[in-house]
Amino acid sequence: MAKVLDGAAIAAEIQQEVAGEVAALASKGVRPGLAVVLVGHVAASEIYVRSKVKTCEELGIHSELITPPESITTEEMLAIVAELNGREEIDGILIQLPLPPQVDTKRLLDAILPEKDVDGFHPVNAGRLQAGRPSLAPCTPAGVIQILRRSGIPIAGAHAVVVGRSDIVGKPAAMLLLNEHATVTVCHSRTRDLASFTRQADILVAAIGRAGFITPEMVKPGATLIDVGINRITDREEFLRFFAGDARREETFTRRGSVIVGDIDPHAFALSGAYTPVPGGVGKLTIAMLMSNTLQAARQRRGF
Ligand code: NDP
Repeated sequence: MAKVLDGAAIAAEIQQEVAGEVAALASKGVRPGLAVVLVGHVAASEIYVRSKVKTCEELGIHSELITPPESITTEEMLAIVAELNGREEIDGILIQLPLPPQVDTKRLLDAILPEKDVDGFHPVNAGRLQAGRPSLAPCTPAGVIQILRRSGIPIAGAHAVVVGRSDIVGKPAAMLLLNEHATVTVCHSRTRDLASFTRQADILVAAIGRAGFITPEMVKPGATLIDVGINRITDREEFLRFFAGDARREETFTRRGSVIVGDIDPHAFALSGAYTPVPGGVGKLTIAMLMSNTLQAARQRRGF
């Protein structure tokens, strides 16, 4: 019987630990601070940012929300970042992506001080991760490692196959797994005979952005399946392909006109040894790891 890796429970555990450590720092007069910059009014970004700010409040982390207008220029954004870089009480700076097209995203992310880069996107932090030095690692892949570790799934010596090589998920996930002594294969859109690799995986990480792309035939029975994908499906035929007979999802689909599916066809989960559900798996860890990174940044910068 496949084990469900409960992202919500693991995230709650991490957040409780962070809250305890934040309280311990408070007794030394230190309060970690996170600044979140949200440009314009992208509905999904507003939801993410709201829950980031709310979680800060719950854990005792100081948070500030900066909301420049959609029309902001790169130079004006750089001035906001420079100001936040210089403020003592701000330990973490997060710029919610995507940004409007007139803003040079790379230039902006590179302008954040590496020690305040709680998203772990700065080239200095990417380099530190690759060099196996302590670093602020991107939140979603760091969450993948926490799920595996806290569920007692052995990483050292396992063959981990990562499908996807983005700078925010695939590449850092591969590097983190390598640092944990997995044997790592990274696959992408130019990989020939993808299934021949995925079928070898003891741990299969799917970060592709295509609904149900990994089919049951592509999975080794007993493997651990980590599904990073978040895809909204609205087409009834596609819905039935993944969820026919699932009364709970049928109700959601009828009510909302859409449901979320990961990059792994849910039929593959039954074959696995353990898997992260979508929703309720990896996605739950992202904010918890942001909180953990903010705490880590505060400690490192202030010498605690
Ligand atoms: P990107 O679009 O940046 O990267 C997708 C990767 O998948 C690319 O490396 C691409 O290869 C690869 N790919 C695309 N098609 C194929 C294919 N046919 N065969 C093999 N590989 C393929 O996406 P992200 O990394 O940003 O996100 C991946 C997924 O994770 C998305 O569903 C996203 O919504 C989700 N996500 C979830 C988060 C969470 O909190 N749970 C956070 C961030 C993302 P190539 O490089 O060759 O183009």
